This record gives sequence, structure tokens and C-alpha cells, in this order.
Amino acid sequence: MRKFSLEHRKKLSIAKLGHTYNRNRKHTKESRKNMSLAHIGLELTKKQLHNLKTINIGRKHSKEFCEKIGLIHKGLKHSIKTKKKISSSKKGCITWNKGKEMSKVYREKVSKSLKGKIGINSRNWQGGKTSLIKRLRNSNKWKDWRGFVFVRDNYTCKICNKRGIIIHPHHLLPVAKFLQFIFETWNGVTLCKSCHIEIHKIMKMEEKCLMKLYQIQML
Ligand SMILES: [Zn+2]
Ligand SMILES: [Zn+2]
Repeated sequence: MRKFSLEHRKKLSIAKLGHTYNRNRKHTKESRKNMSLAHIGLELTKKQLHNLKTINIGRKHSKEFCEKIGLIHKGLKHSIKTKKKISSSKKGCITWNKGKEMSKVYREKVSKSLKGKIGINSRNWQGGKTSLIKRLRNSNKWKDWRGFVFVRDNYTCKICNKRGIIIHPHHLLPVAKFLQFIFETWNGVTLCKSCHIEIHKIMKMEEKCLMKLYQIQML
């Protein structure tokens, strides 16, 4: 291949500055394949690697480009495989804000920007994914109901009479079926963690038995 002198190449590059004849052209599929085949096994020189690493430092995307990227990624979700990959790569990493205290001004800014962004207005809104029960469980009304039940039962498990351990409020009539009684105080009872788990196991078993009986009866 013919090689031009450095001077000549400089002249050429100056002459080509501002030329746009290739801007909207695209390589054909075949030529792209050829190019990729030609590059297989080639190793980049140190200078090339350095150039690749530093070419984008300090550069910023234009607003249009950012918007385009945002549109492309809108509604896209990572697959479970990628999610696992991401989580495993981030294991053990310390987040940039760990242990750092935000300034008062910054906190005020954040709280101001998030004001009123609940439900549909929230940036994390996923089309009403959180079930109604979950949302009710996070409400102040739930906290009031739970507080009332705990105080009335003197923070004591109603099954094993233990006090001073982790306690849960339990619905006598299951919320999933009797949502209308969710905040009734007579429907709440204080249970310790282990008794609560046990009673839900029993309830599940009962339901299974009933379903089986029902199926047998109907056959
Ligand atoms: Zn329960
Ligand atoms: Zn108990």
C-alpha cells in the first residue's frame, strides 16, 4: 500500500475538514461483516486503547440525544438474568452516599421536589402495582388501628401470653376476604411473631381442607 508522508496527510486532513459527504451514508451489511471479520484477532495498540478510553471524557450529550435515549429506554425492563448480573457485580460495593450526611439545604430541596408526588404522580408509579391492602398497610389509619389493638391487649400475645417480644397485629377475619372490617378494633388481636406464623399456617391448612371437601362434595 502506498503511504503518504506526514506532511501530505496533514494537508489531506485539513482539506477534508468540514466535509459531510459520508455523514448520512451507511455501510452495507456485507461490508460491515467484512470489516468485523478483518478486525478479528487484531489487538489494539496502547495508544489506541488510551484514545478509546479518553475520547469521551468531558463530553456531554446534547439535549436532543438525551431525550432520544430516554425514549428508547422507556418501558424497557432488564431480564432476570441481567438483574442477577448487575446485583452480583454490585455486591460488596459501598454506595457513594453511605455515612454521608446531606446538608440541610439539600434535604429541603429534595423534600420540596418530592412534595405531592404520590401515586400516579410518583416517578416510581408502576400502574397501580401495589395492591390495595399493601397501600392500606402503609397508611396512618393502619398505624392508629395497630396502636389501639396493642394498647388494649397490653402488648401481650393473646395465645401464649408472652410480653416483651416482637408482636404483630392479626385480623380475626382475613383482610383478603373481609376488607370492610380492616380497621375495626374488634377484628384485631395482638399475637407474638411465632404464634402469628403458626395461626396463618393453620388458616391455610383449613382453607385447603375446606377446598378439598368442597371438591369431593361437588364430584
Ligand atoms: Zn395475621
Ligand atoms: Zn404468642
